[in-house]
Amino acid sequence: MSRVLVIGAGGVGSVAVHKMAMNADIFSHITLASRTKSKCDAIAASVKDRTGVVIDTAALDADDVAATTAMIRAVKPALVVNLALPYQDLNIMDACLAAGVNYLDTANYEPREEAKFEYKWQWAYQDRFREAGLMALLGSGFDPGVTSVFTTYTKKHLLDRIDTLDILDCNGGDTGLPFATNFNPEINLREVTAPSRHWENGQWVEGPALSHKQVFDFDQVGPKNMYLMYHEELESLAKFYPEIKRIRFWMTFGDSYLKHLEVLENIGMTRIEPMMFQGREIIPIEFLKALLPEPSSLGPITRGKTNIGTIATGEKDGVARTVYVNNICDHEEAYAETGNQAVSYTTGVPAMIGAALMLTGQWTGAGVFNMEQLDPDPFMDMLNRHGLPWKVQDLDAPLAF
Ligand code: NDP
Repeated sequence: MSRVLVIGAGGVGSVAVHKMAMNADIFSHITLASRTKSKCDAIAASVKDRTGVVIDTAALDADDVAATTAMIRAVKPALVVNLALPYQDLNIMDACLAAGVNYLDTANYEPREEAKFEYKWQWAYQDRFREAGLMALLGSGFDPGVTSVFTTYTKKHLLDRIDTLDILDCNGGDTGLPFATNFNPEINLREVTAPSRHWENGQWVEGPALSHKQVFDFDQVGPKNMYLMYHEELESLAKFYPEIKRIRFWMTFGDSYLKHLEVLENIGMTRIEPMMFQGREIIPIEFLKALLPEPSSLGPITRGKTNIGTIATGEKDGVARTVYVNNICDHEEAYAETGNQAVSYTTGVPAMIGAALMLTGQWTGAGVFNMEQLDPDPFMDMLNRHGLPWKVQDLDAPLAF
């Protein structure tokens, strides 16, 4: 029985709050706060309709540390779940420290003026959280999040030693729209247009964005082009699993998405530097975000499935083995359950699970934690019970590329 404050009323926040309401034995009181209160109220109405649970809502600008601290003190939660944008991470962590409350997020901090996600800013909070006796759990979404837990599970149960790890993220969903991003467009475009980077033999190998393509036949989706990308869990996996010689992240993109992205980049619409327009300063990518559909509006029109997992090679009992752990999530089923498409669903459910494990004392500690540092078993068990079932498959051979 615990009180929780969720910050951020987007697609991910909506799923997490619906799933928390469905687990009222753990989340006995939920407050949802975000910049636009009407979005919190719309989610609250849906939660009431679907589950009968009444949640509190509030307006909050989480860039304002004093206001966030005051809200935490007023709500008195046992945990703050940050599902706003990566820009707010440090401010919300500061507010949690000031108010003496545990913290959880799904995406690592990014400065607005530089498209660069790195854990160093949040890892720098290690001593402050430890000394305060508080826990901060970083990256409890799908990727990062479940992908790190799949890796920890692989190491605990399936392989004695992991040699290589490939994370394969396929969104086989189709909105029928020529161009839409399935999570926050600004964050999505900053991530996709960054140079590719993977970990090999103790160092980072960089290449131009989206320059390395492979085809993979995804179960229940079919063959898709996937592209080598940098993704934030590569940094924590390389840190916590120094034995892994090569770690790569692949994401699928359709031709229409890439065609639009190329044009938008060429004409400067994805730029993050401010520019003057008709006497006022604008940031092109923020303007573009305002033109694109909100991820939370894509639920009713998205068909198809996501298939996200990890392929690890290594050894078990002296024998070479390649294991694939993955989850398949159906966009229409996710929408029927929570009113949101599968990309929000696959992030919001793990956020709820990470929160539940902290609130029930199954995941505890003082300091800043990545998902790899915690016991995978209760998390894997909850994935199966709360809408993201997974399976383990032995592959005949490692990936051919
Ligand atoms: P959305 O853009 O749909 O939602 C973000 C919400 O945060 C909006 O409601 C927005 O308010 C609110 N917000 C933004 N700034 C502030 C602020 N200063 N104070 C209070 N609220 C604020 O994004 P998503 O729901 O798609 O994503 C949420 C988070 O999840 C992001 O950090 C994203 O990177 C992460 N994510 C992680 C994934 C993973 O697998 N680990 C996958 C997908 C997403 P407003 O409505 O007013 O704009």
